[in-house]
Amino acid sequence: MEGVREKLLDYEYLLSRLYERVPPASGSGEFQLPDPQVLRIGNQTVIRNFREIAERLNRDPQLVARYLQRELATGGSYDPGSGQLVLNIKVSRRVLRQFLQLFVKTYVRCPTCGSTHTRLERRGRTWVLVCLACGAEQPVPPL
Ligand SMILES: [Zn+2]
Repeated sequence: MEGVREKLLDYEYLLSRLYERVPPASGSGEFQLPDPQVLRIGNQTVIRNFREIAERLNRDPQLVARYLQRELATGGSYDPGSGQLVLNIKVSRRVLRQFLQLFVKTYVRCPTCGSTHTRLERRGRTWVLVCLACGAEQPVPPL
């Protein structure tokens, strides 16, 4: 029976560890994104699940593609058919993940309440992040 108790304690320990890592619902923790599936071909990088990532971000893939190209100072092309983004640069999955989290911080997460239930609106030359949870509006750099 001792073994059972030990297993139970292990289980509780694992559970507590798990809760530590789960970000609070409206905090500033990491946004859960699909891991970028990266394929490097020569000097190009293909993100195979790019559409899936953009859908999770709830943003137009073309906008997310433009953001990455600007931040990485490179060209690229998004193919709506395959849902893949090709970047004309060698870039690692880790770096892509960092930029995608930065995208969330700037273009998805409401700075007032922390909700990611937001919409990006273009008003003339101004881009505004509109929070659907608290109604706050935040001007953001144009994409
Ligand atoms: Zn808000």
